[in-house]
Amino acid sequence: MKRLPADQLLAWFAHARRDLPWRQQRTPWRVWVAEIMLQQTTALVASKRFPEFMQRFATPRALAGAEESAALAAWAGLGYYRRVRSLQQAARVVVRDHAGSVPRNEQILRGLPGIGDYTAAAIVALAFNQPAAVIDANVARVMARWLGHESPVNSQAFRSAAREVLLHSVPAAQARNFSEALIELGALLCRAAAADCAACPLARSCVAHSTQSVERFPHPAPRKLSTAVDSLRLLVRRGRRVVMVQRPADAALLPGFWELPGAWLPRGSATDAAMLRTLLAPIGLKAAGEGRVLRQVSHSITTHRLRCRLVEVDARGRLRSAALVDPTAPQRNLTTESAKLLRVGAI
Ligand code: SF4
Repeated sequence: MKRLPADQLLAWFAHARRDLPWRQQRTPWRVWVAEIMLQQTTALVASKRFPEFMQRFATPRALAGAEESAALAAWAGLGYYRRVRSLQQAARVVVRDHAGSVPRNEQILRGLPGIGDYTAAAIVALAFNQPAAVIDANVARVMARWLGHESPVNSQAFRSAAREVLLHSVPAAQARNFSEALIELGALLCRAAAADCAACPLARSCVAHSTQSVERFPHPAPRKLSTAVDSLRLLVRRGRRVVMVQRPADAALLPGFWELPGAWLPRGSATDAAMLRTLLAPIGLKAAGEGRVLRQVSHSITTHRLRCRLVEVDARGRLRSAALVDPTAPQRNLTTESAKLLRVGAI
């Protein structure tokens, strides 16, 4: 089986390595938090926010014992809040079942909330210096090109081939540097748009480079279809405050977040008086009149493309399951859709 030239890779990494905050002091908890933060956040943003988060929650025990609102507040602005919720749940399991120490076993790690194959392998290799196949998007791109693999990077065929080569190539005592070097190589040289093959320590054995077909790899994963929906959000004022509702704690998307009352509806749904009645009844209000459209904006969230309409409604009644919020005060845990509507509506 082909082996990656580990010696050349490690020699390159020794001088090319960037000094990122999570690389100082490689404790298992720091590695774990960094990997979760880097999942949907750029290294530039994460490098600014990571030290602050670690100062607030220096150990799994510190995060496990905190209020959820404190964890969300420390994550504010990074988006994809499910990440920090899962991290806190996992920290509680670590405190309860592992005396507060991060497990070093890949399989046990994979059983913790929010930890998938990649994160478990990264913790094992980067924190415990044990061989593991650490395949993030950067490494997948490097491996697809180096192997000249014709399957999409999310296919089982590619994952197995890459995994086998990585485990076969990693020097036993250098698992941490080897894994980190490949991630760094993907970020700095084997970039998606412009690979710098002339500087690459893998170039001599790279299939894509030797066949001058770097742009052909990796083959893209089949696109997930996105769904187009209409979103109707209601602006009900009470003096300077507006009515907001909280999403259920078990909602699949953004559980516990606050938003303007309303709903996602199939494209082209009527937004007439009957619809307003339906949306306002659960919070104890009754619309007086038709309402007027204040703004319409586009917004995307996960695989949904939203056409959002902000409708101001004069509504009466006794509020229930809702709260009055000052929209000009800094809002934590507000859905990005409602935040955007309030912002563009200059509310
Ligand atoms: S030689 Fe070029 S394509 Fe191959 S791994 Fe290096 S940077 Fe990527």
